[in-house]
Amino acid sequence: METAEKLAPLGFGFMRLPLTNPDDPTSIDIDKCCELVDIFMEGGFTYFDSARGYHGCKSEWALKKALVERYPRESFTIATKLPAWLAKNAEEARAMFDISLQECGVDYFDYYLLHNLGESLTPGFEEYGLWEFCAQKKAEGKIKKFGFSIHDNAEELEKVLDAHPEVDFVQLQINYVDWESDIIQSRKCYEVCQERGLPVVIMEPVKGGTLVKLPEAVADVLRETEPGASITSWALRFAGSLPNVIAVLSGMNTPEMVAENVAIMRDGVPLTEGEHAVIERARETLAALPGVPCTDCRYCMKGCPEGVHINTIMQSLNIYDQMGDAYRAQENYNWNTGAGKASVCIQCGACESVCPQHIEIVSQLERAVKLFE
Ligand code: SF4
Ligand code: SF4
Repeated sequence: METAEKLAPLGFGFMRLPLTNPDDPTSIDIDKCCELVDIFMEGGFTYFDSARGYHGCKSEWALKKALVERYPRESFTIATKLPAWLAKNAEEARAMFDISLQECGVDYFDYYLLHNLGESLTPGFEEYGLWEFCAQKKAEGKIKKFGFSIHDNAEELEKVLDAHPEVDFVQLQINYVDWESDIIQSRKCYEVCQERGLPVVIMEPVKGGTLVKLPEAVADVLRETEPGASITSWALRFAGSLPNVIAVLSGMNTPEMVAENVAIMRDGVPLTEGEHAVIERARETLAALPGVPCTDCRYCMKGCPEGVHINTIMQSLNIYDQMGDAYRAQENYNWNTGAGKASVCIQCGACESVCPQHIEIVSQLERAVKLFE
């Protein structure tokens, strides 16, 4: 595996910020946020990643309060994202750009992204003319680097890049568990970008925190090799060891977390070949844990009369069963199943008759209803 000469920089993801009310994502604790930003900046890192929709549309405002109003503009870089799928029409979608500038308190973005492309989400960006709109903003100097984030597979990524080779970078979900995953396809997506000479920003290097709290059997594989190394450092160093990476994002919300991640990425070195082999064993141990053997082929979904998002539901069950991460499993379920939740299944059985893995889909869906709805 190709390895960078030094670890890529850490980026601060503004999507899991400290709250004053845990039930209200807009209740960002700005004082605590300032403390986190200070530790991050003192550590020598400068990349901040927000999005129009994070924290009930308050993340960009928090960035202004905790960073922009407290540090010189040239001392940091800001990335934010435009979610076409939150808008009702082109006018509303385009208006988000100026709202983001205002909320962040800046007059240009260092990095600007179309947010979360892939499959059914991609056409909205075309329909609203957002590619041309952003090209215009770049020509005006309001965007320095233009790109997009995507959570889909390599085939979908290639489709977007074939249609839009003008982008400067891509934001991808990369971590050692998803690296060889048939669903996320981190490695294939990364290779697509490398073939086209596109740098990447890495999101989800610890899979939303899942790779910080590994099942014991998997954590033991890592601990046996380097007893003193934190579990988190394996995940961050894996992402940071890849060449041509702009930043490795982490959504941090405590001073301890920021300090730990800063130390790992500032003082750490890229993984050795031997360490890559250990990661491979950890991945194999994880894959051997009980789970639904879904390969994301999606044959089942073509004939489903109710549009059940079967593959995503199987993925959520695996996050729950294999990773033991109920929070992330629920989050994946809420974000990615849309109107195709397990409870709309009418138990016709059409999906089971075509599933090459012979999964008892209907009973798994019943389980998902109990767990996630
Ligand atoms: S059993 Fe449920 S999920 Fe499967 S095809 Fe029928 S409605 Fe869709
Ligand atoms: S057909 Fe089976 S393996 Fe393929 S996506 Fe559906 S449940 Fe998964």
